[in-house]
Amino acid sequence: CGIVGYVGPQPALDVVVDGLARLEYRGYDSAGVAVLSEGVLETEKKAGKLVNLRSVLEATPRSDDGIGIGHTRWATHGAPNDVNAHPHVDNDARVAVIHNGIIENFAALRLELEEQGCAFTSETDTEVTAHLLSRELKERGDGDLAAAMRAACRRLEGAFTLVAISIDDPDLVVAARRNSPLVVGRGKGENFLASDVAAFIAHTRDAVELGQDQVVELRPDSVTVTDYDGASVPVREYHVDWDA
Ligand code: GLU
Repeated sequence: CGIVGYVGPQPALDVVVDGLARLEYRGYDSAGVAVLSEGVLETEKKAGKLVNLRSVLEATPRSDDGIGIGHTRWATHGAPNDVNAHPHVDNDARVAVIHNGIIENFAALRLELEEQGCAFTSETDTEVTAHLLSRELKERGDGDLAAAMRAACRRLEGAFTLVAISIDDPDLVVAARRNSPLVVGRGKGENFLASDVAAFIAHTRDAVELGQDQVVELRPDSVTVTDYDGASVPVREYHVDWDA
């Protein structure tokens, strides 16, 4: 439903939770965040309103490495509970993923991944993407999360915006889209992404539109776009001049 990602010098958790609050108008049944904290993936997710997530986060204050993702879920596969809330993480706690939309071929992918030893914890269609990314990273051995994302997307059917972070590359947020919205906000020494510009308009009005079947790599000082085969795509910038 709502998606936010951040990389830069600010505390990512604050930017991401604030961004999710700006997307609350969309309606959702649960909310969650993942950050890297001293290189370790940390995830919190809670059924119900953002206030539930906020109170868990306030009860256990933490610092982060300036990289994080957040999601508000509108359940399509699996009950709206804590476990099914996003982000979803692989068995090695290497990758965290958030997802809008529906992975149509998730059942076949889940079977394939379970046969290879992946243990699933949720009932969502989304969780296959965490295990797919982790498997790709393991097979590649070079920590290239964007390449892993491209390979995963080539296996997926359906509509999705996917956003991932990984301990393999702690300065990188990777996202992909097909038939589901995704927009990038460019800052100075920091970058944002979201399902709607409303999430980051308080920080920047310089936006980048993502086309169909594209993958974007956000680092503090760069925004790179490719197609699912890795061919580079020109970055289409525009200025958001309406008031959110
Ligand atoms: N299909 C996913 C789920 O049920 C994502 C739903 C959404 O777009 O929020 O978890």
